[in-house]
Amino acid sequence: MKGLIQDYQLTVPAILQRTETLYGPKEIVTRKPDKSFHRYTYTDFVTRAKKLAVALDDLGLEPYDRVATLAWNTHEHLEAYFGVPSSGRVLHTINPRLSPDDIAYIIEHAGDRVLLIDETMVKLLDGFKDDVSLEHVFVFGSAPEGLESYEDLLAGADEGAFRYPDLDEEDAAAICYTSGTTGRPKGALYSHRAIALHSMASAMADTIGIRERDVVMPVVPMFHVNAWGLPYTCTLVGATQVMPGAHLDPESLLEDLANERVTVTAGVPTIWLGILHALDADPETYDLSALRSMIVGGSAAPEGVIRAYKERHGLNVVHAWGMTEMSPLGTICNLRSMMDDLTEDERYRIKAKQGSPVPFIEVRAMAEGEPVPWDGESMGELEVRGPWVASAYFNTDEGADKFTDDGWFRTGDIVTIDENGYVEIQDRTKDLIKSGGEWISSVALENALMSHEAVAEAAVIAIPDEKWQERPLGVVVLKEGAEATEEELLSHLSGEFPKWSLPDAMEFVEEIPHTATGKALKMKLREQFQDYTPAGS
Ligand code: ADP
Repeated sequence: MKGLIQDYQLTVPAILQRTETLYGPKEIVTRKPDKSFHRYTYTDFVTRAKKLAVALDDLGLEPYDRVATLAWNTHEHLEAYFGVPSSGRVLHTINPRLSPDDIAYIIEHAGDRVLLIDETMVKLLDGFKDDVSLEHVFVFGSAPEGLESYEDLLAGADEGAFRYPDLDEEDAAAICYTSGTTGRPKGALYSHRAIALHSMASAMADTIGIRERDVVMPVVPMFHVNAWGLPYTCTLVGATQVMPGAHLDPESLLEDLANERVTVTAGVPTIWLGILHALDADPETYDLSALRSMIVGGSAAPEGVIRAYKERHGLNVVHAWGMTEMSPLGTICNLRSMMDDLTEDERYRIKAKQGSPVPFIEVRAMAEGEPVPWDGESMGELEVRGPWVASAYFNTDEGADKFTDDGWFRTGDIVTIDENGYVEIQDRTKDLIKSGGEWISSVALENALMSHEAVAEAAVIAIPDEKWQERPLGVVVLKEGAEATEEELLSHLSGEFPKWSLPDAMEFVEEIPHTATGKALKMKLREQFQDYTPAGS
């Protein structure tokens, strides 16, 4: 027997329509390339999103055609987030930090017909335009000669021609490609339903908890897994949105956080590390008293950083974990009522974990074909399932082995899960160090290294070893003007880790290479140090 409930489709245009009727006067603020601010209301935003939808019809695009963006977090990008899916087309957000070769590859692979590009990114076109079959390029902001302007595109569209479409919630709404650290980038194709449910789950009080009265600044770029879905979540609940544009330096971000009275913000650990240094150097200038939650994810946030924010600046850092293939939210670390009686140290220890699964996401950690116990110690590969987890990659067989026969997605992350369901990432399968049959977590060593006051960034990688197969090597970037020796760093680690798991040596470097999404590019470091022998041996 079926329930007797209306067949209401969960779609992106349903979010747009809700916001149009309820939140018209609320504000969306964007930092422009010249650092001044663009401000307009949700009413203005909805009008322009509808015009974009109509303009795409006028261009003769078919249903499901892909429309790409290369853009920072701006109001125009938000218009594309809604205008494209609300016209029944698919939004493809491209990461400008990918190589021109990868950008050309994913434009062709996705079959993009139109590209919307920021005026500040136009120079990227030279790197790939001859290798792609785009039919139109429109520029957000002022278009250089020879390129079409997004403003002209909208000016020529009749808002009155827009009708909220009847879409199937299972239709595709957006596509994001992984950054391709293993093989070519692969596309995760999100449905309207996945976006709608992900937005509802993100708004829940025990997840990110976004409400109408919040002022939200996604620092995580809109080209990185849809800025963790925040533009959709905020629009669903009518929160004020602050878009930092191209200005991601600590000073500009601090100005935005303080002046706009931001309550919730989100970004990768590197961003919060930079801001922490700036706040430590100048704790007085910026009034961050409105800020109640700083979401951090994308790579592990060291406990030392979470602690430093709270103890030195009274700010609450919340750890979250997700993936391109998961729209992206999977787990989030809020402490539960039963943890109130723990000591402060114990609570920080939990806050450094990636957290427990959000509603409707299931997790299990697998080793040798079996789930490992939830004891906080047994390691296994994290597998997930839920209504916003990819079921396959778009248009390729590559990576098909990540989707299990019983309907789970293999994340490639090695984790422990504790008795309360809090997941802790130990490593990615490909970065794990296997020494004499034991697994060494590079993430735990990196976090401990980064808690040393002289260390700006650290990566721990496996180097081949005749006796042990692999041994850890620490690769360290020191803070400007700071000094530390290998012995000091090793003794800093020695209290926390068994001796056999300590790096054999520390290499001091000027810079650690990063992926397009800001993660340490360990593959490159491993290549660089493959023939490594410690000095003096
Ligand atoms: P990429 O394309 O670079 O893999 P994703 O954002 O999809 O970009 O990366 C997902 C991966 O990032 C996860 O599988 C995990 O390894 C890592 N990750 C994300 N959040 C965290 C976190 N809070 N702590 C540790 N690792 C994380």
